[in-house]
Amino acid sequence: MSIFIPDSETKLYGLLGKTLSHSISPSLHNNGFRDLGLNAVYLMLETKEKNLEEYIDSLKMIGFSGWNVTIPYKESIIPYLNGFSSLARASGAVNTVLNRRGRLTGYNTDVIGFQRQLEESGINVKDKRAVVIGAGGAARAVIAALIQLSLADITIINRTVENAEELAKLFREENSEQNFDFCSLEEQEYAEVLKAADLVVDTTPVGMYSNNIKNKVVINPEYLHEDQLVIDLVYNPLKTEILKEAEKRGAQIGNGLPTLIYQAEASFKLWTKEMPPKKKWYQIAEEAVEIIEQKELEAEEE
Ligand code: NAP
Repeated sequence: MSIFIPDSETKLYGLLGKTLSHSISPSLHNNGFRDLGLNAVYLMLETKEKNLEEYIDSLKMIGFSGWNVTIPYKESIIPYLNGFSSLARASGAVNTVLNRRGRLTGYNTDVIGFQRQLEESGINVKDKRAVVIGAGGAARAVIAALIQLSLADITIINRTVENAEELAKLFREENSEQNFDFCSLEEQEYAEVLKAADLVVDTTPVGMYSNNIKNKVVINPEYLHEDQLVIDLVYNPLKTEILKEAEKRGAQIGNGLPTLIYQAEASFKLWTKEMPPKKKWYQIAEEAVEIIEQKELEAEEE
């Protein structure tokens, strides 16, 4: 095996976010670069919200060729960019930046990732009803993908109902073919709409490793049933509590791993114009999740 020696020509990429300890993206991209013999590295780029503008200036100055964007910067990065892809514009969120000689263009490959995951599920979602739980960056990407796939009816359920309302209003203004509705996380408000949904997508971090939300379900799972596809965008753990509850009730389930792989693949292709080995990326991602799980268990025992 030949060793990788970075030099002054090494292209720099990374993941820009606030707290990145559990990200799998560096494992995927760095292995992709090595497999294809590319002179590039992918780093963790952690910064506080108050330093975001300065940090982006530094990335430009150092000459980063591009980066992914994660919680909580997918929307707040927008003022610092010079142009947008149509999907970034449609979703109002950016998860990938390409730096062309100091000019930053924002893309949203989460939209592509989620759309491909749904297409692969084998379910025809055209004219169906969806419930999206959450109203952050991931929800925007999911809704933009659902619009591309011509879903008829989309209801956004969110803890802060004003954020759901704002999102529903925004998408309603741009898309006349779909119905957009919203409600709070109060059970009496969402019970009927959840029962009537063909597709339920949880875009909140509830159920994810870290903090104290691991064993929680964001909605009362009583309303999930066998005629539904339930997707949780979280992938660590691979089967969150909401997916366990949905499976118990006979629903088809999916975790966030396919979306993660497909969005990473699309970002990789944007930056390098090359396709990474997707099959190997699944193996790497699953191994990385196992390592995260192990670390979490060890931390709990301490
Ligand atoms: P975000 O912009 O911070 O939005 C988070 C959303 O979840 C907000 O609507 C927030 O509600 C809600 N929320 C947060 N904590 C909650 C809680 N304890 N109870 C109820 N609702 C809660 O984050 P994001 O970028 O959308 O990402 C959300 C999740 O999706 C993360 O876990 C991320 O890892 C995952 N994700 C996965 C992929 C993938 O490729 N699989 C891609 C993107 C994101 P409020 O409005 O009330 O604050």
